[in-house]
Amino acid sequence: MKLHEYQAKEYFARYGLPVQKGVVIDRAEQIAGLALRYPVVIKAQVLVGGRGKAGGVRLASTPQEAGERARAILGMDIKGERVARVLVAEAADIEREYYFAFVTDRAAGRVAAIASGEGGVEIETVARTAPEKIVRAEVDPFLGFPAYQARVVGRRLGFAGAALEEFVRIATALYRLYWTEDADLAEINPLALVGGHLLCVDAKLVLDDNALYRHAETPPNEEMTELEAAARRAGLAYVELDGDIAVIGNGAGLVMSTLDLLAHFGGRAANFLDVGGGASAEAMQTALGIVQQKPGVRAVFINIFGGITRCDDVARGIVENPPKVPASIRLTGTNEAQGQQILKDAGIAAGLDPDEGARVAVELARRGARAREAR
Ligand code: GDP
Ligand code: MN
Repeated sequence: MKLHEYQAKEYFARYGLPVQKGVVIDRAEQIAGLALRYPVVIKAQVLVGGRGKAGGVRLASTPQEAGERARAILGMDIKGERVARVLVAEAADIEREYYFAFVTDRAAGRVAAIASGEGGVEIETVARTAPEKIVRAEVDPFLGFPAYQARVVGRRLGFAGAALEEFVRIATALYRLYWTEDADLAEINPLALVGGHLLCVDAKLVLDDNALYRHAETPPNEEMTELEAAARRAGLAYVELDGDIAVIGNGAGLVMSTLDLLAHFGGRAANFLDVGGGASAEAMQTALGIVQQKPGVRAVFINIFGGITRCDDVARGIVENPPKVPASIRLTGTNEAQGQQILKDAGIAAGLDPDEGARVAVELARRGARAREAR
């Protein structure tokens, strides 16, 4: 889960990392009331990088100028994300920009510290154009990131004396944050030299979704829609899409191929939903409830290949909460005969062939669309 810069900086401050004084606002008029020293920097709060290049980071030397900048940035579209809030922070007089981050290196099976004297630009760019300017250090899971290791990295960036000790404090505090909060990425870019001191001018924090349950204080996930959040709470993998055919399947691969099948027959899926392996009747009921809440759904396609999942459980779930929109059901695999019988007894039709199921679902959605036009 990605956090906004201002949220990441709240974490930074809690762990003793130096950040600029700043306030988040959602209306330009709020600038007048802010007790900040000028010049300030106005920064779009969106969950994508490269805001500076997109015009989402601007300096302002007076409240009036700050108001104008904020008005221009609020409502801007940055890489498909609309800016609803800006961070107004006391501007830093930057002498030099560094890069420092901890990332989960899956290939190494370790956390890695990545540093560079070429900060302020995307690290991927540095990796491509000047890989020799990237310093990398692997973290021993039992030792953590001790000061002596931070000192080695800091020296390689060219720090010495008091600045080196400051770097060590920042690097070790960032590791403490990364580890304690179960982060996937904790990045400072730029880590800036300002008046001889180091300052975290930008902050990026990505938390591990699988560890969110361990952190009650986590801010709400803004990457998810309300339905997606509800599905997650119910333990279902659900992603909203923009078509009109709701999809329920078991297993991510089967659901992905179900989306392809619908597209093949000229239809468009309203969602991705994987009820998971061994789905119970209850999971099926919940899934049906969620997918049909999405506005504009005209049909539902349930595509189940029973393995660990049993067709009779699935069928019971469907019968308990029958679809309110026209449904196409493909149900095959473990306990297929029982499952088909349960549906039949309830007067619900189901087939065995996925292609036919998809074709029917597309047809049902088309009929729904035509009926609506005729009204
Ligand atoms: P990003 O483009 O989304 O990574 O946003 P950043 O917060 O990293 O800002 C982009 C660039 O704007 C930085 O690399 C800096 O060069 C510049 N910048 C950001 N904040 C300040 C500031 O307080 N003072 C100055 N002088 N420049 C800033
Ligand atoms: Mn940045």
